[in-house]
Amino acid sequence: MAAPFDDRDGFIWMDGKLVPWRSAQAHVLTHALHYGSSVFEGVRVYGGQIFKLREHTLRLIKSAEWLGFTIPFTADQIDQACRDTVKAQNIVDGYLRPVAWRGSEMMGVAAQQSKIHLAVAAWEWPSYFSPEARAKGINMIISPWKRPAPDTAPVHAKAAGLYMICTLAKHQAEAQGAHDALMHDYRGFLAEATGANLFLIMDGKLHTPKPDCFLNGITRLTVMDLARARGIEVIERHIKPDELAQAQEVFLTGTAAEITPVGRIGELSYTPGRLTMQLSDDYMAATRQAVVAA
Ligand code: PMP
Repeated sequence: MAAPFDDRDGFIWMDGKLVPWRSAQAHVLTHALHYGSSVFEGVRVYGGQIFKLREHTLRLIKSAEWLGFTIPFTADQIDQACRDTVKAQNIVDGYLRPVAWRGSEMMGVAAQQSKIHLAVAAWEWPSYFSPEARAKGINMIISPWKRPAPDTAPVHAKAAGLYMICTLAKHQAEAQGAHDALMHDYRGFLAEATGANLFLIMDGKLHTPKPDCFLNGITRLTVMDLARARGIEVIERHIKPDELAQAQEVFLTGTAAEITPVGRIGELSYTPGRLTMQLSDDYMAATRQAVVAA
């Protein structure tokens, strides 16, 4: 097993400065640990350049607002913190994890006076799913867990608390020998995977669930643009689970997952096809273009 995440060399940016990796600590009576008052981002680094950095920074700021707190740094400062962290860690191809949370000044549900912290860590990180799983398409189960209704949680925030369902669903998938789980939403429509958005290819068109109760991924938006640039029609709508049987290709999108073909969902099987490969190539080209342009 790789070194645990709290016992590594290097630096983590925390509350305004780079600190030695092992000193980037939060107290056990931190509000975020007890009440889930934490938001975060997952960002990729390609060729030493941070892909879609400003989009991720703006979503982090917005996620905090959805949880009722303000990050005490501007978007420019957060972007710079990310660049400084990548530089300090000497990351060429890797992953960046900005996280903001309520501190330990108040212990209880109310936490208006708590200090807001911000940290950014970065590490080398290859593919989220193994190259073999990607080539064949990953194997998914349908989880009984549902994405919650918009009036039951701040569903558009990338908030730590919303991931407890994802962890349960992912563990359930892995216990059954699958790679990931597909969740329905609170109405029973198809929603998303535990860390990625869903796309179906039906008759040459791209169909994707309307993100009205889950994360509208930055990769999702990029892939929709890439598809339109190829003249592929993109349809955002509520998709019923039984429509999965009519899809010719299925794939997931996410910063970590990039474009990951799906080979199986429950009893249904798919073969990663031409359109998935085309969009995956276009996506990787977009990440490389960003490197050349920088
Ligand atoms: N849904 C969930 C639950 C996620 O964790 C992610 C990854 N951040 C996504 C969708 C995809 O979002 P993005 O493309 O912005 O990484």
